[in-house]
Amino acid sequence: MMAPAATNLGLNLQILAEAPTVGAVAAVRTAPVGDYKDLDTLREFARGKDVITFDHEHVPTEFLRTLMAEGVNVQPRPEALQYAQDKLLMRAAIERLGLPNPRWAKVSTLDELLAFGDEIGWPMVLKTPRGGYDGKGVLVLDSPEEARERSTAWFEQLPSRTDFSALLAEEKVPFTRELSALVARRESGEVRPWPVVETIQVNSICDEVIAPAQDLDPEIAEAAASAAVTIASELGVTGVMAAELFEVPGSPAGFYINELAMRPHNTGHWTQDGS
Ligand code: ADP
Repeated sequence: MMAPAATNLGLNLQILAEAPTVGAVAAVRTAPVGDYKDLDTLREFARGKDVITFDHEHVPTEFLRTLMAEGVNVQPRPEALQYAQDKLLMRAAIERLGLPNPRWAKVSTLDELLAFGDEIGWPMVLKTPRGGYDGKGVLVLDSPEEARERSTAWFEQLPSRTDFSALLAEEKVPFTRELSALVARRESGEVRPWPVVETIQVNSICDEVIAPAQDLDPEIAEAAASAAVTIASELGVTGVMAAELFEVPGSPAGFYINELAMRPHNTGHWTQDGS
């Protein structure tokens, strides 16, 4: 998606591709194939580049910090990107910023999950904080019985390293539709929102985007765009950020924040032609 814009701006865009078959290989002239989870591959690719960025969130944060320590200009910085990589960090940040979060808890054991479910009521949603995409890493649990049955394996698979040894449990919010608030922010702090859009997911994959979201209460649209601006500014995001939202009529703000993405997100692909 970045390739035509880069060409128009006279930028030489190069891509580290996961496989020779990925679409990006056809879009740019220089697209070496390599593993983004291998530090030496990242180092080799970054050499001589003015700036490095991403089109997904799964490049290990510690490698990005190493690249930066070695003088590579990484954007967005790992200090910001971590909130798109880790949903537990994201929930804590949204809470700190006083923005609309569903009720949530960090749970390390089945007992903690059951206690949280009893507190907020069932059904609820259990998520792996890292590595999820397109609905992989999301379980909707209707009852304590279902939680016992389906989440036990998830807890057993948690690595013992303390940073990654918990899951995210959330209230299942009664949303009427999903929205996305996109912003672009420069390193200087200049920031601009796009109009809030409606996103239609099929099997947890974004299938259709309606821009701007139709019949959205202007106050909610304004509050959602302003929440996205606050998040981008306070977390120091550079480039494009999407705040994925649940519209929940009757809730205090009219919406809750679902998750963050820091890249030209699929809910913003319409901007190639539409803005
Ligand atoms: P992914 O990282 O795979 O995109 P999401 O966190 O966006 O995962 O969740 C995938 C889907 O699961 C959402 O599009 C939504 O339909 C549903 N979902 C996630 N969290 C909640 C929640 N707290 N309440 C209700 N539905 C949810």
